[in-house]
Amino acid sequence: MKNQLLLLILLASASPAGGENSTQQNWEIHGLNHAETRHSQLANINRQNINKLGLAWYFETGSKRGLEATPLVIDGVIYFSGTWSKVFANNAKTGEPLWEFDPKVPRFKGANACCDVVNRGVAAWGDSIIFGTIDGRLISLNRSDGSVNWEVLTIDPNKPYTITGAPRIVNEKVIIGNGGAEYGVRGYITAYDVKDGSQSWRFYTVPGNPDTPYESEAMQMASKTWSGDVYWKTGGGGTVWDSMAFDPDLNLLYFGVGNGSPWNRHVRSPGGGDNLFLSSIVAVNADSGKYVWHYQTTPGDTWDYTATQHMILADLVFRNKTRKVLMQAPKNGFFYVIDRATGELLSAKNYVPITWASRVDLETGRPVETENADHFEESQLTAPAAFGGHNWHPMAFNPIEQLVYIPAIEAMQAYSTGTNYQHLEGPHWNLGQDSSENNPFSLTSLPSDLFSAVYKKLMRGQLIAWDPVLEEEKWRVSHKTMWNGGVLSTQGGLIFQGTGDARLVAYRSDTGQKLWETKTDSGIIAPPITYQIDGEQYLAVMAGWGGAIGLMISDNEESFGTGRLLVYKLGASKELPDSSLAYYLPEPPNRTNDSNSIERGAALYETHCQRCHGIGLGTQNIVKDLRYMNKETHSLFDEIVLDGILKSIGMISFSDVLEKKDTQDIHNYLIERSNDLWERQDDRVGWIKSSEQFIYELIASLATWLLEPDQNE
Ligand code: CA
Repeated sequence: MKNQLLLLILLASASPAGGENSTQQNWEIHGLNHAETRHSQLANINRQNINKLGLAWYFETGSKRGLEATPLVIDGVIYFSGTWSKVFANNAKTGEPLWEFDPKVPRFKGANACCDVVNRGVAAWGDSIIFGTIDGRLISLNRSDGSVNWEVLTIDPNKPYTITGAPRIVNEKVIIGNGGAEYGVRGYITAYDVKDGSQSWRFYTVPGNPDTPYESEAMQMASKTWSGDVYWKTGGGGTVWDSMAFDPDLNLLYFGVGNGSPWNRHVRSPGGGDNLFLSSIVAVNADSGKYVWHYQTTPGDTWDYTATQHMILADLVFRNKTRKVLMQAPKNGFFYVIDRATGELLSAKNYVPITWASRVDLETGRPVETENADHFEESQLTAPAAFGGHNWHPMAFNPIEQLVYIPAIEAMQAYSTGTNYQHLEGPHWNLGQDSSENNPFSLTSLPSDLFSAVYKKLMRGQLIAWDPVLEEEKWRVSHKTMWNGGVLSTQGGLIFQGTGDARLVAYRSDTGQKLWETKTDSGIIAPPITYQIDGEQYLAVMAGWGGAIGLMISDNEESFGTGRLLVYKLGASKELPDSSLAYYLPEPPNRTNDSNSIERGAALYETHCQRCHGIGLGTQNIVKDLRYMNKETHSLFDEIVLDGILKSIGMISFSDVLEKKDTQDIHNYLIERSNDLWERQDDRVGWIKSSEQFIYELIASLATWLLEPDQNE
């Protein structure tokens, strides 16, 4: 009898890694559990002893681009992914590297990734570790040695699809979506057999060519909410690039759907319509992939207000009745509480300032749009920005406090409607907006120093503790940077979050009071996790600056180090060496003083180059800051931009959208900006060369002073 019991226990622990019974010592599922609460029961690290927390070990991933992964910890081994979809396994106690796997993604595929060559984590089942790659493959590895079990291509490789999200495993199926809606693809999510990678089901999120049969009844329903033919020719969007959750009792899989291709609804579906299932939360039967219900957060989205943000399942007492709820803070700025059995909307209240809608009507479940929502005739400055009131960074739900902790963003952005829309094939964005120079609200048309000053002061990262029942904020911490890390909640009464200015911080879960912080050498965007081995609790987080805002916005002045996994425990005191890279600024070629060419080059740069090289340049050389080009690069400018001689390191040819005259203008703009920087280096020894420069810096410092918000820290 005893032996049989032991066998049963062994069998139970050998069944899907991360089952509901899995010990809380491990972290076996992306969101810790299928409800994705990210609240750990571990309490050995707590409010009383947090001041003894120190660095136990760290691991260099060998990358200087964005790290967004949630590591998994199973039986003493920590599994995590880095840039270019690389996977690592280390001893979770000592840090000793056990194996690593490089899927060898061709670097030119990086141009298909809107928001850096990131990966948000691996999934585990039995003896396997499963993850997606930037070039759209799903790979199963043997957990013990990193050898390949199976590999399957989940996308059409001729289309700009990518995978950055972590797969989820439900009912012995591995579920994975993809990204690419900024470029123009058709979104879907697929279930594969976890044992051999054979396809089980696929759910399309937007209708395809109306002349071909509908793939499902859901697509037949959705097709009535679209018009024209731009959408299906460009793909329509609706990619499922990040969040999922699973309720095993209801056997429902929930996933969040992204924005449309192109963004602008007047261009995408000129006759109007809600454009299902864009910006929706969709519930399907986990075995069959059949539609059960949906809730559309932003009908007819036109702002990149995806509903791909983290979803948390919980049981809440709502108006005197216990409800099984799903909670989400999508990009559009509203915090939603939804009955997850039926899809009924229970609550929607904005958690950041918004201008596009005044409220959500609880009867109809629809947002009430304001005049600001209409940017067909005139462009509008709208909040939130396309980065969202909250992006992919995971939240956490603390069941003791009954609070959800949101890594929020307060920001705004100019939106407009492009005339003469022409779809660009391949790795180019298709937003359906005016180019920046025609857009009076475009911040990118500001002088660069003023732009970064305004941006830094108007756009803020916030850690918001949200009460989902009272529909109100309990406390908040204002960060210096807009782009910060995901959140971890623990039974020790602590909330952990990394920041864009390179700190890992612990707050009291009830008041937000800061109890502990440490410098991390690089800005953090990933969420921390925690685990326990031999009675000792560990805290782990990946520190590596990048991602959408890391690439595009100059969010801070610090020079960051290389991407690492950092692991902390009580009583440890290892030093984290400074690995920040110094960049040598070569003397640029002489200014051309051709103002027409420079102005045109600036607009072309902001159209084609900024999403990797930074809005207005100056984003920490994550992808090369083009003001730092050396003599050789200057002399090969056209060969690089038009002939694609650096394709093997990721710089693709732009000859399909640019010609020699264009590259000359872009080059002249870059030479101008290089000289600005070169001269500013002299300013630092006390000589202001350009009076214009002086005025901008004066305005910038005034703006800085006027707009400095209250710091809660
Ligand atoms: Ca998007």
